[in-house]
Amino acid sequence: MKAMVLTAPGRPLELRDVAMPTFGPSDVLVRVLACGVGLTLLKGFASGRVSGYPRIPGHEICGTVTAAGAEVRQVEVGQRVTCHYYLTCGVCRFCRDGRESLCLDRAGSIGRDIDGGYAEYVRLPARNVIPVPDGVPDVAAAIASDAIATPYRACREAALRSGDGLLVVGAGGGVGIHVVQIARLRGARVIAADIGDAKLALARELGADETIDARAGGIAERVRALTGGRGVDAAIDLVGTTATLRAALDSLGMGGRLVLVGSPLKDGAERPRIDLDPSELQSRALEIHSSRYVSADEIARVLELLAQKRIRAVVTRTFALAEAEEAHEIIRRNEHAGRLALVMSN
Ligand SMILES: [Zn+2]
Repeated sequence: MKAMVLTAPGRPLELRDVAMPTFGPSDVLVRVLACGVGLTLLKGFASGRVSGYPRIPGHEICGTVTAAGAEVRQVEVGQRVTCHYYLTCGVCRFCRDGRESLCLDRAGSIGRDIDGGYAEYVRLPARNVIPVPDGVPDVAAAIASDAIATPYRACREAALRSGDGLLVVGAGGGVGIHVVQIARLRGARVIAADIGDAKLALARELGADETIDARAGGIAERVRALTGGRGVDAAIDLVGTTATLRAALDSLGMGGRLVLVGSPLKDGAERPRIDLDPSELQSRALEIHSSRYVSADEIARVLELLAQKRIRAVVTRTFALAEAEEAHEIIRRNEHAGRLALVMSN
C-alpha cells in the first residue's frame, strides 16, 4: 500500500510503498477515506514525541472497516468509523470513569507510537473506533475526532450557560472555528479573536457575534468595551502564548473561567508562562481549567451533532495523500482559516 512515512526526526515525509498492516484479534483493519491535518500532528514531529521510525503519522481518521479480529464485536466489516487517538488501557480508574484521556497507563497515541492514517490502510484497536452515522461526510467524520470533539470538551470545561459571554482566542483556526459553533449552540455570546481578515470573516460566518483583530493589540480592552466593562464569563485560549494567556485572563469578568486548550508550535522558542498574582484570582474568583483531549463518548456526541446538521465541519482545503507536506507547510505559516485534510480519493 501507499503511505506517507516519517523516516527520521525533522525529515520531510516520503511517499513509499509499504507492507499492509497486520492486525491482532482485538484490532480492525481500516481502509482510510480521509485524514485531518493539524498543529497537534506537527507538534508531535517537532517535539520528538514520535517513539520510533519509520512511522506513518495521522490521527484524525475516517475509514471503512475491511477486516476485524476474532474478538471484535462492536463494529462490523463495511462500517464507516473514526477513532479516539489515545492508546488507553481501558481499566484504570480514569478509563472506567469515562475520562480515558487521563488514562494512567497509556501506551501512547495513534500516529506517534503506532502507525496512523497517512496511508491507504491503518490498523486500529477496536476499542478506539467509533461508528460514523449516515449523512456525515468522510472529512467531517475524520476531524470530528479531534478538531470538533476538543471544542466540545472545552465548552463543557468552560461550563457555558446560555447568555454567557465567551472570548475565543484563535477563533478562525481549525479548532477555534468549531469552538465558535458549539459555544453558539450552548447559547453563548461569542467574541472571536484572531489574526487576519479571512479568519475573522470565517468566524463571523460560523456564528461569532463580535470579532477582534489581534494584530491591533489590546484584546482585553476590546473585550471590556464590548461587554460594558464587565468582561466575559469564560475565555477559551487555543493559541497559548504568554501574551494570549494574559489577554484571556484580563478579559474575564467576576467568576470567569479560563480554559487552556492550545499550545504553540515551539521549535526552540521560549515556553509560555502564566504570570499570576493569587490575589487577582481570589478577588475576582477566577477559575483556570485545562482541557486534555476528549472521551470516545464526546466524539460520538459530536458525530450526532454533525448528522443533525447543528454544527458544520469546516474543512477549507483538501489534499491528496502525496501532497501532505504541502498541507503541513500551510499550517506552519499559520495563514489558513479552518481545518485541512487529506482525502484518499483526491
Ligand atoms: Zn486507563
